Amino acid sequence: MAPLNKLQEKYDYICIGGGSGGVASSRRAASYGKKVALIESSPHLGGTCVNVGCVPKKIMWHAADLADRLRHASKGYHFENVPPPQFNWASFKPQRDAYIRRLNSIYEKNLEKEKVDYYNGTARLVSSNEIQITPSDGGEPYVIAGDYITVATGGRPTMPSEDQIPGASLGIDSDGFFDLEDQPKRVAVVGAGYIAVELAGVLNTLGSETHVLIRRDRVLRTFDPIIQDTLTPWMEHTGINIHKNTSVTKVEGQKGGELTVHLKDGTQLKVDCVLWAIGRHANTEGLGLEELGIQLDKRGDVVVDEFQKVLFVEGKPQLENIFAVGDIQGKALLTPVAIAAGRRLSNRLFGPEKFKNDKLSYEDIPTVVFSHPTIGTVGLTEPEAREKYGSDVKIYKSSFRSLYFSQIEEEHKEPTVYKLVVVGEEERVVGVHIIGQGSDEVMQGFAVAVKMGARKQDLDDTVAIHPTSAEELVTLR
Ligand code: FAD
Ligand code: NDP
Repeated sequence: MAPLNKLQEKYDYICIGGGSGGVASSRRAASYGKKVALIESSPHLGGTCVNVGCVPKKIMWHAADLADRLRHASKGYHFENVPPPQFNWASFKPQRDAYIRRLNSIYEKNLEKEKVDYYNGTARLVSSNEIQITPSDGGEPYVIAGDYITVATGGRPTMPSEDQIPGASLGIDSDGFFDLEDQPKRVAVVGAGYIAVELAGVLNTLGSETHVLIRRDRVLRTFDPIIQDTLTPWMEHTGINIHKNTSVTKVEGQKGGELTVHLKDGTQLKVDCVLWAIGRHANTEGLGLEELGIQLDKRGDVVVDEFQKVLFVEGKPQLENIFAVGDIQGKALLTPVAIAAGRRLSNRLFGPEKFKNDKLSYEDIPTVVFSHPTIGTVGLTEPEAREKYGSDVKIYKSSFRSLYFSQIEEEHKEPTVYKLVVVGEEERVVGVHIIGQGSDEVMQGFAVAVKMGARKQDLDDTVAIHPTSAEELVTLR
């Protein structure tokens, strides 16, 4: 190996990765007066969430939601002269991209404000406290040093290889979805998780012929059964073609042209776009982690302890100064989780005495799926609770149509289904699972209640807010 360039700077703390976790952790450390650096390899700060995740996804969800509302306005609510929604993807995309670029520059300004030194380049750990940076502008690599180092390089979409599925590379992943200049007329989305459900929902609602190809018979397999059983048929009802118990054997065609998707039962689908949404994996390659003996699990995620400290394989120095937060550690791949873990880590390392044991609890993390309608969930699913607590589990459930849909014709009335999972004589709420209009906004408050150890009686003692859908959660019998 060529000798490394001379050390350029020495820091108290260095974060690798300018996404949710790295930015949050570095800014928090700098707020305690520490000398901090952040290294990001892509041209834009903000990571997955800002550039190819939560933010552009939610904007597209809003566009789709508006299309539904425009239909409801003319059909159900008697607004006159509302034309059928005709979304102009090609003109909307540059506006959406411009907003993301604004966010990128706000991120950069915030680092500057907090006095975090920002390096644009690719980082690699070359020793326990030295990082080599290969600058993105093609300059010579150099080294910076840090007493503490956090790896927050996130993850990226998993794509099948050409060996696994010939023609797989003719498809795109979720990053590619955000690059689409035009709306595809016909799409096959492969997968049944968050991304498949959300992007298929957007495409279908905006008018693309949408096929979803799943390995089992329902979407969102890890969610409570009421969520799976409500969303799967509703997606079909809204016109999405869900091909169940299937897999793709081959894709044929030309990039940019018509593609033929071959399924294992011999079915062939003609589409303009194949979108792989079959999970994500950690960005660990080329970081020098294995060389230092940092443990990766079988999925390739970095193994950390409850304080986000990385673990080392036997026989290697068991270092105490290297940490990992966010998607790279494989648990709860969500932006607020990466942010919370990153901030708490900096609180503990650099903050006042009261934070000396600060860490993120990975229990009762609320999450939302931006499907149509949206889903909110926190805590244990019914099967998880039964496994853990057996016959101590009691379920409260309600299924209804929200008032908004009273004026909408029968076939477009979205379902709402709420479930509380409670345990023991005191009926402590250990799970809340809701699907229906507004669930994305309803969930946060109930997550606070679960986190505080609310009992069913506490919900019953809370006066309902009327008329809302959420009130059902405090009036369940
Ligand atoms: P990232 O945000 O991915 O940041 C990692 C950064 O490290 C990247 O900028 C990368 O370029 C950089 N990097 C990688 N290698 C190097 C290197 N060697 N040197 C320097 N830099 C490097 N979460 C939600 O909570 N809500 C949502 O609605 C939501 N929607 C999503 C929609 C989609 C389509 C996707 C894909 C994800 C979504 N997520 C959502 C998940 C969320 O985006 C991630 O959990 C979050 O971004 C993880 O943050 P992170 O800091 O761990 O990694
Ligand atoms: P998920 O883990 O949610 O889902 C992966 C899906 O891929 C599963 O449905 C799985 O099917 C399917 N799958 C895996 N391998 C194959 C295969 N070979 N062929 C067909 N299907 C396959 O991953 P996503 O990529 O959707 O999302 C990654 C993570 O990003 C999420 O877990 C979530 O944490 C985060 N995210 C959060 C969002 C939010 O907060 N709203 C939105 C988007 C992403 P099966 O069920 O059969 O195993």
